[in-house]
Amino acid sequence: MRGCVFLLRLAGFVRNRRFVPYNDAMAPVYLDNNATTRPAPEVVEAMLPFLRESFGNPSSTHPLGQAARHAVENARTAVAALINARPQEVFFTSGGTEADNFAILGVLAENPKKRHIVTTAVEHEAVLRLCQRLETQGYRVTWLGVDRLGRLDPAEFEAALRDDTALASVMHANNETGVIFPVERLAQISAARGVPLHVDAVQTVGKIPLDVTAAPISLLSLSAHKLHGPKGAGALYVRRRVRLRSLMMGGHQERDMRPGTENVAAVAGFGRAAELAMATMHDDAPRIARLRDRLEAGLLEQTRGAHVNGDRANRTPNTTNIGFETLEAEAIVITLGENGVCISAGAACASGSLEPSHVLKAMGIDPIIAHGGVRFSLSRYTTESEIDETIHRVPPLLERLRKLMPAAT
Ligand code: PLP
Repeated sequence: MRGCVFLLRLAGFVRNRRFVPYNDAMAPVYLDNNATTRPAPEVVEAMLPFLRESFGNPSSTHPLGQAARHAVENARTAVAALINARPQEVFFTSGGTEADNFAILGVLAENPKKRHIVTTAVEHEAVLRLCQRLETQGYRVTWLGVDRLGRLDPAEFEAALRDDTALASVMHANNETGVIFPVERLAQISAARGVPLHVDAVQTVGKIPLDVTAAPISLLSLSAHKLHGPKGAGALYVRRRVRLRSLMMGGHQERDMRPGTENVAAVAGFGRAAELAMATMHDDAPRIARLRDRLEAGLLEQTRGAHVNGDRANRTPNTTNIGFETLEAEAIVITLGENGVCISAGAACASGSLEPSHVLKAMGIDPIIAHGGVRFSLSRYTTESEIDETIHRVPPLLERLRKLMPAAT
């Protein structure tokens, strides 16, 4: 409680400052790429014509409309190629959240008699809160747990499937820890039981290879802004013959599955981001993982009571979640932000109490570590000097914070 008062004071201090948009001269070290990524310059270039002269509606049959249609279909081909799907299996949405909602609600609407869902306790809020709401509407949800390293047991997944299971929804990698779930194996298991599997791959698409033909994944969510594309664009992959109902009524866009005039510029940017990810992922992933490991080693070595949360042997290459004993995650985020290092926390200061992240809680992490759990997430644009700068700047800031924090006593 006292920790929270301190935090609110710290947050108030930040809130009272006048914020101006960043420019490159004042660029902080940005290590919050699981929240969002910097749009690639090529992506911005690809979007601009559709915000200027090529502003047609893709449903119009005149040349201006057809130019927009062409851009949307090119983007569909590029996004499909990134996951080895067919273009007809890709439906554009407003982002990952909508794709998750579309997948789950769309499958349930097609199977009204089946009232059971299998998911995990560590999903992103887009799935978590939807399933919680579905529970209040009479659906039964089996919430699968994870072990201390954040791993899911396929045998538990198999045991949870029932005759009335309408669908299973499991993320590919966790947004807070980067821990990867064995979704190919889960897809085999659920397909054998005739249960469609939805995979939230928002944190893996463009970071690690993903091939929807390698396993019978039924539905898969993507989001452009996690792979150097724009915000407000995403997609749902729907395997051929998977039955899904559209959630909205309106025009005939996206083959009647997602009505509404397309966000052409964002979709074009998404397509370009997918092409770039495909071209660079192979070389980027090991380089980013090396930088992540360097950061982790530096912080662990130079900070008291620092622990890595999650399975270090099986994570997305760009993510590390570190718990700093006796510190509060929000205080760390605010202090580092004020000192030019952008990261994020899973914990939130709500109603006067500090709750550790639901992910770290589900992993059974000691609360003294979980409360100080923060995420550093890198990207294609992270440089070695930024990592060295972070290793140099962060330990003394944490030490100072430790002296200030009432929790430290
Ligand atoms: N799923 C996961 C795993 C995420 O990390 C996020 C965003 O952080 C989302 C879904 C939501 O995606 P969007 O921001 O595009 O709605």
